[in-house]
Amino acid sequence: MQYDNKSLYDGLVASGLIIPTGEPGVFGRNAVFEDVLERFNGLVTQLAQADGAEKFTFPPTLAREVFEKSGFMKSFPQLAMGVVSFCGCGKDHAELVSRIADGKSYDDLMTRTGVVLIPAACYPIYPSFTGTLPEGGRLVDMTHWVFRHEPSEEPTRMQSFRVREFVRVGSPEAVIEWRNMWLQRGLTLLQSLGLPAQEEVASDPFFGRVGKMLANNQREQKLKFEVVVPVISEENPTAVCSFNYHQDYFSKTFEIMQANGELAQTACLGFGLERVCMALFKHHGFDPKQWPAAVRSKLWP
Ligand code: ZN
Repeated sequence: MQYDNKSLYDGLVASGLIIPTGEPGVFGRNAVFEDVLERFNGLVTQLAQADGAEKFTFPPTLAREVFEKSGFMKSFPQLAMGVVSFCGCGKDHAELVSRIADGKSYDDLMTRTGVVLIPAACYPIYPSFTGTLPEGGRLVDMTHWVFRHEPSEEPTRMQSFRVREFVRVGSPEAVIEWRNMWLQRGLTLLQSLGLPAQEEVASDPFFGRVGKMLANNQREQKLKFEVVVPVISEENPTAVCSFNYHQDYFSKTFEIMQANGELAQTACLGFGLERVCMALFKHHGFDPKQWPAAVRSKLWP
Protein backbone atom coordinates (compact mmCIF):
# COMPACT_ATOMS: atom_id res chain seq x y z
CA MET A 1 0.00 0.00 0.00
CA GLN A 2 1.20 3.52 -0.89
CA TYR A 3 0.91 6.20 1.75
CA ASP A 4 0.74 9.96 1.21
CA ASN A 5 -1.35 12.94 2.23
CA LYS A 6 -2.53 14.06 -1.12
CA SER A 7 -3.99 10.85 -2.52
CA LEU A 8 -5.99 10.25 0.67
CA TYR A 9 -7.27 13.84 0.78
CA ASP A 10 -8.10 13.89 -2.96
CA GLY A 11 -9.82 10.50 -2.70
CA LEU A 12 -11.94 11.57 0.28
CA VAL A 13 -12.97 14.73 -1.57
CA ALA A 14 -13.58 13.03 -4.94
CA SER A 15 -15.79 10.40 -3.36
CA GLY A 16 -17.78 13.13 -1.56
CA LEU A 17 -16.86 11.81 1.90
CA ILE A 18 -15.42 15.17 2.98
CA ILE A 19 -16.37 18.64 1.75
CA PRO A 20 -13.66 21.33 1.75
CA THR A 21 -14.58 24.73 3.24
CA GLY A 22 -11.58 26.82 2.18
CA GLU A 23 -9.78 26.54 5.54
CA PRO A 24 -7.23 23.71 5.96
CA GLY A 25 -8.33 21.10 8.48
CA VAL A 26 -11.95 22.27 8.47
CA PHE A 27 -14.32 20.26 6.28
CA GLY A 28 -17.78 18.79 6.14
CA ARG A 29 -18.57 15.07 6.21
CA ASN A 30 -21.28 13.38 4.14
CA ALA A 31 -23.83 10.80 5.31
CA VAL A 32 -21.61 7.83 4.36
CA PHE A 33 -18.73 9.21 6.44
CA GLU A 34 -21.08 9.91 9.36
CA ASP A 35 -22.58 6.42 9.15
CA VAL A 36 -19.14 4.82 9.45
CA LEU A 37 -18.30 7.16 12.35
CA GLU A 38 -21.50 6.38 14.23
CA ARG A 39 -21.19 2.63 13.61
CA PHE A 40 -17.66 2.63 14.98
CA ASN A 41 -18.70 4.72 17.97
CA GLY A 42 -21.49 2.16 18.50
CA LEU A 43 -18.90 -0.63 18.71
CA VAL A 44 -17.09 1.35 21.40
CA THR A 45 -20.41 1.68 23.26
CA GLN A 46 -20.86 -2.11 23.09
CA LEU A 47 -17.37 -2.71 24.48
CA ALA A 48 -17.98 -0.31 27.35
CA GLN A 49 -21.52 -1.44 28.12
CA ALA A 50 -20.80 -3.51 31.22
CA ASP A 51 -18.49 -0.86 32.73
CA GLY A 52 -21.35 1.32 33.95
CA ALA A 53 -19.88 4.68 32.94
CA GLU A 54 -21.84 7.87 33.60
CA LYS A 55 -22.62 9.61 30.31
CA PHE A 56 -22.31 13.38 29.90
CA THR A 57 -22.31 15.94 27.12
CA PHE A 58 -20.70 19.37 27.36
CA PRO A 59 -20.86 22.12 24.72
CA PRO A 60 -17.85 22.92 22.50
CA THR A 61 -17.17 25.97 24.69
CA LEU A 62 -15.19 25.70 27.91
CA ALA A 63 -15.19 28.33 30.66
CA ARG A 64 -11.95 30.28 30.29
CA GLU A 65 -11.38 30.08 34.03
CA VAL A 66 -11.33 26.26 33.88
CA PHE A 67 -9.12 26.38 30.79
CA GLU A 68 -6.59 28.67 32.50
CA LYS A 69 -6.62 26.64 35.71
CA SER A 70 -6.00 23.43 33.77
CA GLY A 71 -2.62 24.77 32.60
CA PHE A 72 -3.21 24.25 28.87
CA MET A 73 -1.45 27.53 27.99
CA LYS A 74 1.69 26.41 29.82
CA SER A 75 1.99 23.27 27.73
CA PHE A 76 0.18 23.81 24.40
CA PRO A 77 -0.39 27.55 23.76
CA GLN A 78 0.11 26.94 20.02
CA LEU A 79 -2.97 24.68 19.86
CA ALA A 80 -5.42 26.80 21.86
CA MET A 81 -8.43 28.38 20.17
CA GLY A 82 -10.01 31.25 22.09
CA VAL A 83 -13.31 32.93 21.32
CA VAL A 84 -13.48 36.69 20.79
CA SER A 85 -16.42 39.00 20.20
CA PHE A 86 -17.10 42.64 19.41
CA CYS A 87 -17.95 44.63 22.54
CA GLY A 88 -17.34 48.16 21.27
CA CYS A 89 -19.53 51.23 20.67
CA GLY A 90 -21.10 52.58 17.46
CA LYS A 91 -17.92 54.40 16.42
CA ASP A 92 -15.83 51.24 16.94
CA HIS A 93 -18.34 49.35 14.84
CA ALA A 94 -18.00 51.72 11.90
CA GLU A 95 -14.22 51.29 12.17
CA LEU A 96 -14.62 47.50 12.31
CA VAL A 97 -16.79 47.34 9.19
CA SER A 98 -14.50 49.64 7.24
CA ARG A 99 -11.38 47.65 8.19
CA ILE A 100 -13.04 44.39 7.13
CA ALA A 101 -14.01 46.00 3.81
CA ASP A 102 -10.36 47.10 3.34
CA GLY A 103 -8.99 43.69 4.30
CA LYS A 104 -7.19 45.19 7.32
CA SER A 105 -6.60 43.61 10.72
CA TYR A 106 -9.27 44.36 13.35
CA ASP A 107 -7.82 42.24 16.19
CA ASP A 108 -7.54 45.29 18.47
CA LEU A 109 -11.31 45.89 18.18
CA MET A 110 -12.19 42.42 19.45
CA THR A 111 -12.45 41.34 23.09
CA ARG A 112 -11.81 37.99 24.77
CA THR A 113 -15.02 36.29 25.87
CA GLY A 114 -15.50 34.05 28.91
CA VAL A 115 -15.01 30.89 26.86
CA VAL A 116 -12.50 29.02 24.72
CA LEU A 117 -13.15 26.09 22.37
CA ILE A 118 -12.50 22.83 24.19
CA PRO A 119 -8.98 21.58 23.40
CA ALA A 120 -9.53 18.03 24.74
CA ALA A 121 -12.73 16.07 25.26
CA CYS A 122 -12.11 15.46 28.95
CA TYR A 123 -11.37 19.02 30.10
CA PRO A 124 -14.94 20.05 31.00
CA ILE A 125 -15.42 17.17 33.46
CA TYR A 126 -12.54 17.64 35.93
CA PRO A 127 -13.97 20.62 37.89
CA SER A 128 -17.13 18.55 38.49
CA PHE A 129 -15.05 15.94 40.38
CA THR A 130 -13.90 18.48 43.00
CA GLY A 131 -14.43 17.09 46.50
CA THR A 132 -14.49 13.50 47.73
CA LEU A 133 -15.22 10.69 45.27
CA PRO A 134 -17.53 7.79 46.07
CA GLU A 135 -15.92 4.48 47.07
CA GLY A 136 -14.30 2.99 43.93
CA GLY A 137 -14.04 6.36 42.17
CA ARG A 138 -15.92 7.35 39.02
CA LEU A 139 -15.98 6.54 35.33
CA VAL A 140 -17.30 8.99 32.73
CA ASP A 141 -18.18 8.61 29.03
CA MET A 142 -18.38 11.58 26.63
CA THR A 143 -18.29 12.27 22.88
CA HIS A 144 -17.16 15.83 22.17
CA TRP A 145 -16.03 18.03 19.31
CA VAL A 146 -12.52 19.23 20.16
CA PHE A 147 -10.54 22.11 18.64
CA ARG A 148 -6.84 22.45 17.87
CA HIS A 149 -5.24 25.33 16.06
CA GLU A 150 -3.06 23.41 13.63
CA PRO A 151 -4.20 24.21 10.09
CA SER A 152 -2.72 21.55 7.81
CA GLU A 153 -3.14 19.95 4.41
CA GLU A 154 -2.88 16.54 6.12
CA PRO A 155 -6.43 15.16 6.15
CA THR A 156 -5.85 13.46 9.51
CA ARG A 157 -4.77 16.74 11.16
CA MET A 158 -8.02 18.62 11.68
CA GLN A 159 -8.83 21.87 13.47
CA SER A 160 -12.03 20.34 14.82
CA PHE A 161 -12.95 16.70 15.21
CA ARG A 162 -14.84 14.34 17.49
CA VAL A 163 -13.37 12.27 20.28
CA ARG A 164 -15.12 9.45 22.13
CA GLU A 165 -13.55 9.77 25.51
CA PHE A 166 -13.67 7.94 28.81
CA VAL A 167 -12.26 9.33 32.03
CA ARG A 168 -11.43 7.22 35.09
CA VAL A 169 -10.81 8.84 38.45
CA GLY A 170 -9.94 6.91 41.60
CA SER A 171 -7.00 5.11 43.21
CA PRO A 172 -3.73 4.78 41.24
CA GLU A 173 -4.21 0.98 40.99
CA ALA A 174 -7.77 1.25 39.67
CA VAL A 175 -6.80 3.92 37.15
CA ILE A 176 -3.81 2.00 35.75
CA GLU A 177 -5.68 -1.30 35.58
CA TRP A 178 -8.51 0.39 33.71
CA ARG A 179 -6.07 2.06 31.28
CA ASN A 180 -4.34 -1.26 30.56
CA MET A 181 -7.65 -3.03 29.97
CA TRP A 182 -8.68 -0.40 27.41
CA LEU A 183 -5.33 -0.49 25.65
CA GLN A 184 -6.01 -4.14 24.89
CA ARG A 185 -9.65 -3.48 24.00
CA GLY A 186 -8.70 -0.67 21.63
CA LEU A 187 -6.10 -2.77 19.83
CA THR A 188 -8.42 -5.76 19.48
CA LEU A 189 -11.30 -3.61 18.23
CA LEU A 190 -9.25 -1.88 15.54
CA GLN A 191 -7.56 -5.11 14.44
CA SER A 192 -10.98 -6.77 14.18
CA LEU A 193 -11.84 -4.10 11.59
CA GLY A 194 -8.91 -5.16 9.42
CA LEU A 195 -6.61 -2.32 10.50
CA PRO A 196 -2.90 -3.03 11.23
CA ALA A 197 -3.15 -1.33 14.63
CA GLN A 198 -0.21 -1.29 17.04
CA GLU A 199 0.46 0.23 20.43
CA GLU A 200 3.18 2.82 21.01
CA VAL A 201 4.57 4.83 23.89
CA ALA A 202 3.89 8.45 22.94
CA SER A 203 4.26 12.05 24.08
CA ASP A 204 2.23 15.22 23.72
CA PRO A 205 3.30 18.17 21.50
CA PHE A 206 4.49 20.31 24.43
CA PHE A 207 5.56 23.84 23.44
CA GLY A 208 9.14 25.05 23.25
CA ARG A 209 12.43 23.94 24.78
CA VAL A 210 11.03 23.12 28.21
CA GLY A 211 8.38 21.20 26.33
CA LYS A 212 10.99 18.83 24.89
CA MET A 213 11.97 17.90 28.43
CA LEU A 214 8.36 17.40 29.44
CA ALA A 215 7.81 15.16 26.42
CA ASN A 216 10.90 13.06 27.23
CA ASN A 217 9.77 12.71 30.80
CA GLN A 218 6.31 11.64 29.65
CA ARG A 219 7.84 8.96 27.42
CA GLU A 220 10.24 7.70 30.09
CA GLN A 221 7.44 7.31 32.60
CA LYS A 222 5.15 5.76 29.95
CA LEU A 223 2.35 8.17 30.83
CA LYS A 224 0.97 8.27 27.28
CA PHE A 225 0.22 5.39 24.93
CA GLU A 226 -1.30 5.52 21.49
CA VAL A 227 -2.86 2.95 19.24
CA VAL A 228 -1.54 3.82 15.79
CA VAL A 229 -2.44 2.80 12.24
CA PRO A 230 -0.58 3.78 9.05
CA VAL A 231 -2.92 6.20 7.24
CA ILE A 232 -0.78 8.79 5.45
CA SER A 233 2.66 7.37 6.27
CA GLU A 234 4.14 3.98 7.06
CA GLU A 235 7.05 5.36 9.17
CA ASN A 236 4.83 7.76 11.13
CA PRO A 237 1.55 5.94 11.66
CA THR A 238 -1.45 7.99 12.77
CA ALA A 239 -2.70 7.87 16.37
CA VAL A 240 -6.35 6.81 16.34
CA CYS A 241 -6.68 6.22 20.06
CA SER A 242 -4.77 7.87 22.86
CA PHE A 243 -4.36 6.86 26.51
CA ASN A 244 -3.24 9.48 29.00
CA TYR A 245 -2.28 8.82 32.59
CA HIS A 246 -2.24 12.20 34.37
CA GLN A 247 -1.27 10.80 37.78
CA ASP A 248 -2.46 13.46 40.28
CA TYR A 249 -2.16 16.48 37.93
CA PHE A 250 -5.90 17.18 37.60
CA SER A 251 -6.65 15.96 41.12
CA LYS A 252 -4.22 18.51 42.58
CA THR A 253 -5.53 21.26 40.31
CA PHE A 254 -9.19 20.58 41.04
CA GLU A 255 -8.85 19.08 44.56
CA ILE A 256 -10.22 15.61 43.88
CA MET A 257 -9.95 13.16 46.80
CA GLN A 258 -10.57 9.43 47.07
CA ALA A 259 -13.12 8.14 49.60
CA ASN A 260 -10.21 7.26 51.94
CA GLY A 261 -9.09 10.89 52.01
CA GLU A 262 -6.03 10.47 49.77
CA LEU A 263 -5.51 12.47 46.60
CA ALA A 264 -7.11 10.72 43.61
CA GLN A 265 -5.49 10.02 40.24
CA THR A 266 -6.96 10.32 36.75
CA ALA A 267 -6.52 8.79 33.32
CA CYS A 268 -8.42 9.28 30.09
CA LEU A 269 -8.61 7.57 26.75
CA GLY A 270 -10.03 8.89 23.52
CA PHE A 271 -10.83 7.45 20.12
CA GLY A 272 -10.29 10.02 17.36
CA LEU A 273 -13.46 9.18 15.47
CA GLU A 274 -12.66 10.92 12.18
CA ARG A 275 -9.19 9.36 12.16
CA VAL A 276 -10.64 5.88 12.63
CA CYS A 277 -12.94 6.53 9.64
CA MET A 278 -10.02 7.75 7.53
CA ALA A 279 -7.99 4.67 8.48
CA LEU A 280 -10.90 2.48 7.34
CA PHE A 281 -11.26 4.40 4.05
CA LYS A 282 -7.51 4.18 3.45
CA HIS A 283 -7.27 0.44 4.08
CA HIS A 284 -10.59 -0.75 2.63
CA GLY A 285 -11.36 1.88 -0.05
CA PHE A 286 -13.66 4.88 -0.34
CA ASP A 287 -16.85 2.83 -0.86
CA PRO A 288 -17.94 0.98 2.31
CA LYS A 289 -20.17 -1.28 0.18
CA GLN A 290 -16.97 -2.81 -1.24
CA TRP A 291 -15.31 -3.37 2.14
CA PRO A 292 -14.39 -6.94 3.20
CA ALA A 293 -17.39 -8.92 4.45
CA ALA A 294 -15.80 -9.47 7.88
CA VAL A 295 -15.43 -5.71 8.38
CA ARG A 296 -18.91 -4.94 7.06
CA SER A 297 -20.56 -7.50 9.28
CA LYS A 298 -18.94 -5.93 12.37
CA LEU A 299 -20.02 -2.39 11.49
CA TRP A 300 -23.39 -3.26 9.92
CA PRO A 301 -24.46 -6.50 11.69
ZN1 ZN B 1 -8.53 13.35 27.93
